Amino acid sequence: MILAALVLFRALSPLIETVEGELPIVITAPHGGTMAIPGGIERSNTGAKQFVTVTDTRTDVLARTTAAEVENATGKKPWVVVAKFSRKYLDVNRPVEVGAEGDAAKAVYKEYHDDVRKAVDAVRAKFGKGLLIDIHGQGSAPETVFRGTQNLKTVTGLSDLAGPTSFLGLLEASGVAISPTSAMAHDKENPKLDGGYTVQTYGSQHPDGIYSIQLEFGATYRATKAIPETAKKLATALQAFANN
Ligand SMILES: [Zn+2]
Repeated sequence: MILAALVLFRALSPLIETVEGELPIVITAPHGGTMAIPGGIERSNTGAKQFVTVTDTRTDVLARTTAAEVENATGKKPWVVVAKFSRKYLDVNRPVEVGAEGDAAKAVYKEYHDDVRKAVDAVRAKFGKGLLIDIHGQGSAPETVFRGTQNLKTVTGLSDLAGPTSFLGLLEASGVAISPTSAMAHDKENPKLDGGYTVQTYGSQHPDGIYSIQLEFGATYRATKAIPETAKKLATALQAFANN
C-alpha cells in the first residue's frame, strides 16, 4: 500500500518536489529552483515571447514553508508542486515550445505538468472545487504582491474574490499589499504579471480547472527573515478558503 502510494505520487524526477495533499489547496512554485537538468541545455531561445531565465529567489522556500504552516494549523497537507530545477534550463510557466529546449527539459516539463494536473484532478474529485496559488517573485515593486488571474478569467465562478473573509481579502487584511487592492478588485491587473501559463491552464475558466491565482511577491516578502511571516499569512488565508 505504502509502496503503491509512493509510486503514484512521488515525482519520478529529483528535480520536482511533489506532495500529495488532503485539502482543496494546490501550491505551485515554478521559478525558485537552482539545479541544472542532467543532460539538459541552457535555454537559448532568446527571441521567444516572454523569454526569461532569472530565478524568483526563495519562492521555493516560501511555497514549502506555507505548506508546512497549513499542515501545522490544520493537521492536513495541501498539495505542493515545487520546481527544483533552474529556469535557465526550463520554464514550466510557459508553453512547452517557449519553456523547454531539448529532450531532457521536455521530459521534466511533462512531469511537472503531470503532477499539477494530478493535484487539480484529485482536488476536483474530492471537493468539486479548489484553489491553486502559483507563487512567483517580481523585482519591480518590493512592497507589492501582484495578483494575476488574466483579469479574473482564471477564477471564473469564484463568488467571493476579495471580500473580508475571502483568500485575497484576508491576505490583504493581514498586511500583504495586493495589487489590485480588494477595494479595486475589478481593476485591470499589471499587464506583465497578469497570470501565466499555469493559471491559464488550470484555472476555473476550464471545465476541469480550479480557481487559480498567480501571486508575484516583491522582495520584501521574500527576504529570508520575512518568509516565516509571509508564509503564516498565506497559510491563514488559505485555511479560510479550505474551511468555506
Ligand atoms: Zn516567476
